[in-house]
Amino acid sequence: MLEKVLIANRGEIALRILRACKELGIKTVAVHSTVDRNLKHVLLADETICIGPAASPQSYLNIPALIAAAEVTNAQAIHPGYGFLAERADFAQQVEESGLVFIGPHPDSIRLMGDKVSAIEAMKKAGVPCVPGSDGAVGDDPATNMVIAKRIGYPIIVKAAGGGGGRGMRVVRSEEELVSSIEMTKAEAKAAFGNDMVYMEKFLENPRHIEIQVLADGQGNAIHLGERDCSMQRRHQKVVEEAPAPGITPELRAFIGGRCVEACKVMNYRGAGTFEFLFENGEFFFIEMNTRIQVEHPVTEMITGVDLIKEQLRIASGMPMTIKQEDIIIRGHAVECRINAEDPVTFIPSPGKITRFHPAGGNGIRWDSHIYADYTVPPNYDSMVGKLITYGETRDIAIARMRNALDELLVDGIKTNIPLHKDIMRDAGFCKGGTNIHYLEKKLGIK
Ligand code: ADP
Repeated sequence: MLEKVLIANRGEIALRILRACKELGIKTVAVHSTVDRNLKHVLLADETICIGPAASPQSYLNIPALIAAAEVTNAQAIHPGYGFLAERADFAQQVEESGLVFIGPHPDSIRLMGDKVSAIEAMKKAGVPCVPGSDGAVGDDPATNMVIAKRIGYPIIVKAAGGGGGRGMRVVRSEEELVSSIEMTKAEAKAAFGNDMVYMEKFLENPRHIEIQVLADGQGNAIHLGERDCSMQRRHQKVVEEAPAPGITPELRAFIGGRCVEACKVMNYRGAGTFEFLFENGEFFFIEMNTRIQVEHPVTEMITGVDLIKEQLRIASGMPMTIKQEDIIIRGHAVECRINAEDPVTFIPSPGKITRFHPAGGNGIRWDSHIYADYTVPPNYDSMVGKLITYGETRDIAIARMRNALDELLVDGIKTNIPLHKDIMRDAGFCKGGTNIHYLEKKLGIK
């Protein structure tokens, strides 16, 4: 087992990783920016190092500073969490070249999945169902592109191969818009991602977002841990997640999970990963793979009993995975609400000092967060300040517990989206289950 791990992240995920390390007897190194000295995990870590100023390019994205911090503290491995450098193949590679362990997949897997065109190609080969599309990047010839688009059938969506975070996409409803849309998406992609490669996909009108969690050890063993439904989104950002997904039968789960496991084996994947799908009319369509732990991983932990971060640490230690597919039994239901420091109506970030704080508690309640009374939420980073997760034997019980927990949770001094979550938990469509990715925006009057 690894003896000392450097946590290259901040906030709730840094604390989550620290907790897992402590359970396994692993020493921890917390790195932080100058405004993050009072983060909860920094106060609890064995060693701490300030790696730079508040601006993340000079701190949490500063690769030489992170590697130097690992070297001076004799940490053996770096856990990147999510966001920041978690899906940067060059970072993973530099970590490995420095003789450290990157707690994640091989840099080649990150590279393969980071380019959506190569990712889709690999998935097709491995038998994972994909959205019908251009089968590769589109070229510059308008006539050829029109033929391809016609074959796919309008509406289509033009997407950047290097895109991420819901950016670099454009829906095209008719042939007249095609050429200009491709050109505009290319120009945007070049500016935003430094790569103007784009591809076309059939635009699915009313899909749900359903994703499969996998674990693989890079030694030939791979399993899936069922699915999560993350359809409750605003601007392609997930707001509420749950597991299992309403209406997904054990047969469908076994089918799509099996395809993902097969894909992991084909690419000799190592670590935790998520295959994201759009789900429409009973069919799954792969859109992308995330080669890291995800924000919403707790809902899977609640229904499977598997600690995904501890598994990441075991795999990174070189241990073969001992959990078998037949050991994964899905029990009950879990819901997660992302608690953000933001205005619940305008969604404008609301950093500042938390004056009063009281967590929610009781049977089936989990609160993953770094905040406390007197803590100041800095304006420099993502506005998520915590994740409230509830578990119940049934979906109705999990939702009822979430309503209670949201009533109990008290965060004063800053604005939060708790009122929005209270509203969603009482929404008839959500309570019924199976809403699509446009539901929340329609409810909010955005669409
Ligand atoms: P990103 O890496 O930017 O998150 P994704 O490929 O995961 O990009 O797509 C983000 C979101 O865009 C999806 O969750 C979905 O809402 C929408 N989207 C992407 N592809 C399609 C498609 N073919 N049809 C309909 N919506 C799509």
